[in-house]
Amino acid sequence: MQFYKPTADFFVPDGAPADVAIARTTHLCISAHQDDIEIMAYHGVAECFGRKDRWFAGVVVTNGAGSPRAGIYGDYTDEEMQKVRVLEQRKAAYVGEYACQVQLAYSSSEVKDPKGTAVVEDLKNILVAANPEVVYLHNPADKHDTHVGTTMRAIAALRAVRDRVKPKKVYGCEVWRDLDWLLDEDKRVLPVSARSNIAAALVGVFDSQVSGGKRYDLATAGRRLAHATYHASHGTDQESALNFAMDLTPLIEDPSLAVTDYVLSLVDRLRADVARRVNSVA
Ligand SMILES: [Zn+2]
Repeated sequence: MQFYKPTADFFVPDGAPADVAIARTTHLCISAHQDDIEIMAYHGVAECFGRKDRWFAGVVVTNGAGSPRAGIYGDYTDEEMQKVRVLEQRKAAYVGEYACQVQLAYSSSEVKDPKGTAVVEDLKNILVAANPEVVYLHNPADKHDTHVGTTMRAIAALRAVRDRVKPKKVYGCEVWRDLDWLLDEDKRVLPVSARSNIAAALVGVFDSQVSGGKRYDLATAGRRLAHATYHASHGTDQESALNFAMDLTPLIEDPSLAVTDYVLSLVDRLRADVARRVNSVA
């Protein structure tokens, strides 16, 4: 596969030829940074792990520049740190038995640029080659602007190839803002209890991030446990870990639907629900 950036990285954990590796994809995640996939789309990894008929592929659009550096990484230059982050993402792909791992190596500002056509072209090529059944993106209500920018570029790519690539589901997932606020009928509930050992290892390989003082490993598991416990007030927990997702499929099926209008319609439903509940007991 050819990508716009000469520094782009294409890794196939089991050594299959590149075209074969990507063509077997059934579940595809497009994320902003190294480690986002493992936080937001473990559902897809778990669905495919150890199977011959389903394959998970990961795409990271940015280059990992400007990462925090602490401990053994304290003396690293930004370039050295970018190499560490690429290697850590490859480790996760190996542990998770991904079909392939693409790292497109764009700067954050390039990804956030609404005129960033190179990012969209790369994503279109990946989508056509992978032809996924399920796509995982950042949710557009995330509070990290690079996450939102990545999702906007991915939606543009999905819309551009929608005559050739028709995923059954497109999910907006949780990293920097969870989706507990969605009404239950608007939530897409993603069970992630399977293989907690692999789930833990996937976030754990990003040592440069966890050593940087942020316990993403514990927080990611904690969020999933909290969702499983607090999702329903009645009955016992069927799952010990859940992620929530926003259904983004309508945005691909209807390219005239503005992303802002769609997301704010979900916010409005929360607003109306809060008002109804308070008023019912006032
Ligand atoms: Zn991120």
